[in-house]
Amino acid sequence: MTSIADKTDFSTSANDFIDEGRLHGLLDRKTDDAELRDVIAKSMAKEPLALEETAVLLAADALEQVEAIFDAARQLKRDVYGNRIVLFAPLYIGNECTNDCAYCAFRRSNKDVVRRTLDEAELRAQVEALEKMGHKRLILVFGEHPRYNAEFMAKCVHQVYATHVGHGAIRRVNINAAPLDHAGYRIVKEAGIGTYQIFQETYHHDTFAKVHGTNTRKGDYLWRLDGLARAMEAGCDDVGIGALFGLYDWRFEVLGLIAHGHHLQKHYNVGPHTLSFPRLRPAHGVKLDETYHVNDDEFKRLVAILRLSVPYAGLILTAREPPEIRREVMAFGVSQIDAGTRIELAGYTEGGSDQSMDREQFHIGDIRPLDEVMRDLLTDGYIPSFCTACYRLGRTGEHFMEFAIPGFIQNLCTPNALTTLCEYLVDYASPETRQAGQKRIHEELERLPDGKRKTELLDRLKRIEETEERDLYF
Ligand code: SAM
Ligand code: SF4
Repeated sequence: MTSIADKTDFSTSANDFIDEGRLHGLLDRKTDDAELRDVIAKSMAKEPLALEETAVLLAADALEQVEAIFDAARQLKRDVYGNRIVLFAPLYIGNECTNDCAYCAFRRSNKDVVRRTLDEAELRAQVEALEKMGHKRLILVFGEHPRYNAEFMAKCVHQVYATHVGHGAIRRVNINAAPLDHAGYRIVKEAGIGTYQIFQETYHHDTFAKVHGTNTRKGDYLWRLDGLARAMEAGCDDVGIGALFGLYDWRFEVLGLIAHGHHLQKHYNVGPHTLSFPRLRPAHGVKLDETYHVNDDEFKRLVAILRLSVPYAGLILTAREPPEIRREVMAFGVSQIDAGTRIELAGYTEGGSDQSMDREQFHIGDIRPLDEVMRDLLTDGYIPSFCTACYRLGRTGEHFMEFAIPGFIQNLCTPNALTTLCEYLVDYASPETRQAGQKRIHEELERLPDGKRKTELLDRLKRIEETEERDLYF
């Protein structure tokens, strides 16, 4: 694993492309209605926005302007992305950490937090518990510590894929962990990971230094900023970026995220697969600085603006947010949410009905069980999906393929969402959720045009219901 001393392995595109003077300049403007209309029209044509154009959306703060942005995001979501929501669960592997991030309960100076790293048997037990809930996609989360090196992560990934209970199987394992060097990324790629996620936390240099210190691994701004460029060069072309909202001006962070996406697109021809926008939450032993608190209205604006700015990237909304906010924000084009989430170590087997703050990284806002989240999604008109087909068939990297190829969603995404939903209903759902799900499948089938694909889909749904066959993806 890379130590502070040997961080010489930067990417060929490594440079600090966050030009604060320019970003602040862009934020120092007003937006008139005509300008706003033009930018929204560009988004609706599914064109990624330039930084200047995102800045137009960020400056739009009159009530009608904000409503126009919300309406556009909702429409883009409906027309372009359909009503699928992909579900996943985070799995915390270890909370040993050598960093001292001011906002995180796992920081090394927090002596009151219970430190733990799952051993093989414990990891297996967590995965079995997740499979019994019906999960198919996980993100493994690690603190930054020499023992959590690339080999260790790869071993965990192999173990997760090898764990099965009943019809259960984890079909996609993503990672959220510290930046690696090229060799490290090659090792985790080889283990079959999906997305490698690294959040820059804040793109503002002074704030970055203030909350991370300069004598920690994480305190090296450029090493982190360059982290996913190295991943791309090492063959991990499926990466997720993110900012922790509440550390600095939310509008600046939105521009930082967009600039980061442009950098990857420019140098590697592939933008980030996903964007995350966690909001700062209370955490054990953490005194939150409220200066840059992002309120609910601002949060909704930032999600809608991200949607309009990067029409092709997935947006991830986590259980940090309470159910009411999740419901509202989802309509702006969120593509993935976690559900049934427990973030304390071994929380899927040992967690009670409440969270234990001394064992987890921060307090979450949505602790509903997966079955309840599924039912609410179905009632709200979504198709909850556990689909993992693209990544398993090598349809990655050019992730916008699903928008570029005519009929992709209708021929592949919707059928795959429906077969994975059907698996969930047959194998794991409560009677009420099963009923709501069957109704949704019926309604979606009515909408699909007759033809070969629909016939195949009907056949597969029948096989899932009547036999032991599973994992029938297109
Ligand atoms: N240790 C790795 C790292 O820092 O990159 C893994 C990430 S950490 C376990 C996952 C993410 O949680 C962090 O990147 C940060 O954005 C977020 N996080 C940390 N403390 C938080 C808090 N108090 N509220 C909300 N999110 C928080
Ligand atoms: Fe460690 Fe990550 Fe928490 Fe920072 S955010 S203290 S690196 S676990």
